[in-house]
Amino acid sequence: MFSKIMIANRGEIAVRILRACRDLGVPAVVAFSEADRDTLAVRMADEAICIGPAESRKSYLNQPAVVSAALIAGCDAVHPGYGFLSEDAGFAEVCAAHDLHFIGPRADVLEKFGSKYAVRRMLAANGLPTVPGSTGILSDQRDALDQASAAGYPVLLKPSAGGGGRGMRLVRSPREMETSLPLARSEAQAAFGDDSVYFEKWIEESRHVEVQVLIDQHGNGIHLGERDCSVQRRHQKIIEETPSPAMSDDARERLRDLALRSVLAAGYESAGTLEFLLDGDGNFYFIEINCRIQVEHPITEMLTGIDLIAEQIRLASGEKLQLRQEQVQLRGHAIEFRINAEDPGDNFAPQTGTVEELQLPGGPGVRVDTHLYAGYEVPPYYDSLLAKLIVWGETREIALARSRRALAEFQVAGIKTNLPFHRGIIDNTAFLEGAVSTNLLDRVGPAAFVAGNA
Ligand code: ADP
Ligand code: ADP
Ligand code: MG
Repeated sequence: MFSKIMIANRGEIAVRILRACRDLGVPAVVAFSEADRDTLAVRMADEAICIGPAESRKSYLNQPAVVSAALIAGCDAVHPGYGFLSEDAGFAEVCAAHDLHFIGPRADVLEKFGSKYAVRRMLAANGLPTVPGSTGILSDQRDALDQASAAGYPVLLKPSAGGGGRGMRLVRSPREMETSLPLARSEAQAAFGDDSVYFEKWIEESRHVEVQVLIDQHGNGIHLGERDCSVQRRHQKIIEETPSPAMSDDARERLRDLALRSVLAAGYESAGTLEFLLDGDGNFYFIEINCRIQVEHPITEMLTGIDLIAEQIRLASGEKLQLRQEQVQLRGHAIEFRINAEDPGDNFAPQTGTVEELQLPGGPGVRVDTHLYAGYEVPPYYDSLLAKLIVWGETREIALARSRRALAEFQVAGIKTNLPFHRGIIDNTAFLEGAVSTNLLDRVGPAAFVAGNA
């Protein structure tokens, strides 16, 4: 096991990683930007170290600053959380060169799984169904037009280095391709430092279902079931649940097995998630792998009783997986609600401000992962996630009833949040029936789901 871990992230995930370190008995150091001096992880930490100004590029993405802080603090491992440096193979390599263990896949594995397009091709070769699409990275306008007419419109342009739902563009005709391709490329370059773009056929009515895996450095792997993340706005997840309410037990078993077998064969290691789209006919198609811990990991923890971050840390230290597949028990149903600093009354515009009062829900089956406290000032520089409400019940019905109660108890004063959206959707028929597709909110307009607007 490691002797000291640097947490190179912020917000709720920094708090979550700190808790895992405490449970493992490993000292941790929180790296923070000047804007995060007063954040909860820093308050809770035994040791914290400033790595630069508010702007991510100069702090959380500043590799020399993170590495030198880790070395000065005497750490032998770095946990990157999600976002920021979490899937950066170059960073994993720099860590290794300084005798720091990157908590994630080793650098060469991360490199191999780094490009969405390359992984799609590699896993397709291993027998995983993928969404039909371009046969390579689009080289130019002519290539894009030729390939899209062969595949048939509409298509979705996707940045190969993309993530966080950003930079994708729906293209319905050759004319749209002419304007969209250059925009998609320059957006990809600006957001991800790489202008490689490919396309997939647009699947209008689909659900997002993903499989969590844990794989050690010795070739042993297990899956921890699937999560359904179909409630999305602009390709970003808002509510996740497990098991998926849209799959038969046979279908979920097939998907879990196929997902695990294909990444094991391809040489993946660490915690990871394979994301799929499920179409109206029950066919599933692989879309990408996230080589890191995910925002929605707690719902899997609720069903399995496994601390995913502690496992991820153990795997990075070279330990063998202690669990066999048949020892993994998936019990009950869990739902996560992402509470964001967004105003549902103003097209979900991001909000900043001071949390004047905070009343967190509790009781049976309820967990809240958050970095908020009364008096905390939400800075404008980072993403809008404030808290995750995670609810467990023996059945989906019980989980829904507890969710309704917990959402009513959850009070934040001083800053607008999307809680009114969650309180509305929890009574929406499509949601209750488990029938929300990934594009529904954008098609209908998410405001229609807000409590009081229905
Ligand atoms: P990111 O890397 O940004 O997470 P993904 O490839 O995982 O991007 O896609 C994010 C979301 O975009 C999916 O969950 C789904 O809602 C939508 N999406 C992605 N690919 C398609 C597709 N081919 N057809 C329809 N929707 C898609
Ligand atoms: P999850 O699948 O864990 O829900 P999200 O796609 O919601 O992941 O991303 C989690 C966080 O990481 C978000 O803050 C998102 O903006 C960020 N993120 C994910 N991938 C990238 C990337 N390639 N570049 C920058 N930020 C990313
Ligand atoms: Mg994704």
